[in-house]
Amino acid sequence: VIHTLPDTRYDLAVIGGGPAGMAAALRASELGVKKIIILERNPYLGGILPQCIHNGFGLKFFKKDLTGPQYSQVFIDRLKDTDVEVLLCCTALSLAKSRQKVEILAASSLEGVLKIEAKSAVLALGCRERTRGQVSIHGTRPAGVYTAGFIQKLVNIEGYLPGREAVILGSGDIGLIMARRLRLEGVDVKGVYELMPFSTGLTRNIYQCLKDYGIGLHLGQTVTRIFGHKRLEAVEVAKLDEGLMPLKDSARIVRCDCLLLSVGLIPENELSRTCGIVIDENTQGPLVNEFLHTSVEGIFSCGNSLFVNDIVDSVTEDGFIAAESAAGYLEGKKGLGFELSQTAIRSGANVAYISPQRVSLKSKVHFKIRARTPMRDAEIHIEGTGFKRSIRHVLPGELIGIRLDIPRLMGKGSFFKKPSEIRVSIIDKDGRGKTG
Ligand SMILES: Cc1cc2nc3c(=O)[nH]c(=O)nc-3n(C[C@H](O)[C@H](O)[C@H](O)COP(=O)(O)OP(=O)(O)OC[C@H]3O[C@@H](n4cnc5c(N)ncnc54)[C@H](O)[C@@H]3O)c2cc1C
Repeated sequence: VIHTLPDTRYDLAVIGGGPAGMAAALRASELGVKKIIILERNPYLGGILPQCIHNGFGLKFFKKDLTGPQYSQVFIDRLKDTDVEVLLCCTALSLAKSRQKVEILAASSLEGVLKIEAKSAVLALGCRERTRGQVSIHGTRPAGVYTAGFIQKLVNIEGYLPGREAVILGSGDIGLIMARRLRLEGVDVKGVYELMPFSTGLTRNIYQCLKDYGIGLHLGQTVTRIFGHKRLEAVEVAKLDEGLMPLKDSARIVRCDCLLLSVGLIPENELSRTCGIVIDENTQGPLVNEFLHTSVEGIFSCGNSLFVNDIVDSVTEDGFIAAESAAGYLEGKKGLGFELSQTAIRSGANVAYISPQRVSLKSKVHFKIRARTPMRDAEIHIEGTGFKRSIRHVLPGELIGIRLDIPRLMGKGSFFKKPSEIRVSIIDKDGRGKTG
């Protein structure tokens, strides 16, 4: 039976009540959007933040060093002063778009199955962790192999310790933060192993989470086998050659009862796919233009479901942009539409991925760029615009943000021919990568 809430027609439905969704709902409310609802599958707002009890949140946005729960509480408190409706324990199952509205089918533990209509929607669905199956480690399948975010929830929210001796695979931020967290709980952290010859985490986390606690970072090494029957007993680790293949002679056994996997995040977009939103193969989030408008009219995307961010401050910023665009769309503002035929932004030399992937060339753009490998004394080039910026250290773990007024750069008012694509490259001081 599909139920109907007393009023299920909204101007804006925000799906996901993490920092991106809360920022979007708040900004839309400030801009005068009348009927707004947030659908959140958890019994609380805040997304991943309530389990991130360490500090380091809000340094950019609030100029303060907050914990995850403190950061999210600011937004929860602000939402209380608005008319934004919040439906917790409610999972959006599918989206359908007709000319005038977005139809959301949702399952709520309080209301049953619901159909909600909105004139526009912001998707702020976060991301999910890659698991053992996605990194193909040989061996048995004992208990004791977890993803990092799951252990974070076990330790910080549920109050369980996952083991006594831990090995961490992957040096992204979650792995680094959990290395320190487990050490503080008295776990013997045997080391962090990273496939690549560089860490994929923020530099500050390498110092604050590993170096300060004497935890070893083993670059260019990975876990090649898992041992144990009921419970994990040990892992085999090995060094890798340049082709990332294990060097057999280097293999050694590390005893542990807990393997923590921090091997990447995937933007959550199963819901986006239900209404045919085009997904970018590189970012694994929707293709968007500078207004964060997806390929389906009236649906906007932000936060980690659009692009995996390093810090929450940039997620909040995205939420604001999506809300401003949704408010403009509801007012009938022209020029916000996404077209595949708009100028494409392509990843050039040393760029792993970039967002937005389309630009209208009528407005300012906030590019987010993820580098492929570290570089020193590099330059970012945005082809065709004349834009160049020097950058001392390029690190894959640190997202590069660039705000660009392309119409001004290319001469607004002049009859410049809109390029079909613009390539963004990171080139080192010797000119490496010039040809892309
Ligand atoms: C371990 C860890 C450490 C971090 N450390 C830092 C740090 O030190 N500093 C910092 O600035 N940032 C840090 N971050 C990053 C920051 O937490 C994230 O960037 C931010 O939480 C992403 O916000 P989001 O709203 O996009 O996604 P999330 O916080 O993941 O929120 C998404 C929400 O959408 C909901 N949802 C998803 N699908 C549906 C659906 N179908 N229906 C209804 N609801 C749905 C989910 O339940 C969730 O609540 C850290 C993250 C992690 C995991």
